[in-house]
Amino acid sequence: MSIIIKSPHQIEAMKEAGRVSAKVLREVGALVEPGISTLELDAFAETLIRLEGGIPAFKGYGGFPGSICASINEQVVHGIPSKNVILKEGDIISIDTGAIVDGWVGDNAWTFAVGKISPAKQRLLEVTEKSMWAGLDAARVGNRLRDIGHAVQTVAEAAGYGVVKDYVGHGIGRNMHEDPNVPNFGQKHTGIPLKAGMVLAIEPMINMGTDKVKQMSDGWLVCTRDGKPSAHFEKTVAITEEGPLILTTETEHRRPVND
Ligand code: MG
Repeated sequence: MSIIIKSPHQIEAMKEAGRVSAKVLREVGALVEPGISTLELDAFAETLIRLEGGIPAFKGYGGFPGSICASINEQVVHGIPSKNVILKEGDIISIDTGAIVDGWVGDNAWTFAVGKISPAKQRLLEVTEKSMWAGLDAARVGNRLRDIGHAVQTVAEAAGYGVVKDYVGHGIGRNMHEDPNVPNFGQKHTGIPLKAGMVLAIEPMINMGTDKVKQMSDGWLVCTRDGKPSAHFEKTVAITEEGPLILTTETEHRRPVND
């Protein structure tokens, strides 16, 4: 494992990729409504990323065809945008967007409600977001890597949900996926010591039922094995001496609010 430590100057430079990634996610999320296709969301995202001076980080990555990942209901991650996938009232959709600006990558995700959703789905969204904030809050000098996953897992499992183990967060910088892997589970105070200058994408994938997932035949889409819904929230965060610094934001907020 070779973790690339970023200088304060480099972290500063990464903020622009983070800002564009966050803006695109927010604006694409605002378009989520019954009747729109995930391909329309994708086209909007690509246009906006380029207007903002960025390059879609996902498009062509390992052959992925889209600028966003769009994953509905029991789909966990890596859904390919399609004109045939039309959002319906009561769906939830996880959207993952990434932008490259000046050679630096930003990566973030959010799960949105399509119209009115069931209380059970609403709770899944709230708990998964809360687990992300808990993970971000643990991204501190003095903690170890698994403290992040432990924080995520504690929130999710207290609500009775399954924490996806087969897909994890990651280091990020000039490449979208760098060392280390950042699991969403683990024992407190284990793993490598967290150091200032590490930049991580923390991204809980939380299932309403079993934690088990299956890879679908297109080679990308991942679904829950039991067909129950799944949610995905992600932010890119830099570990600094002053605490976690969230980079995928349009209005810098230094401290995660975990409550
Ligand atoms: Mg990611």
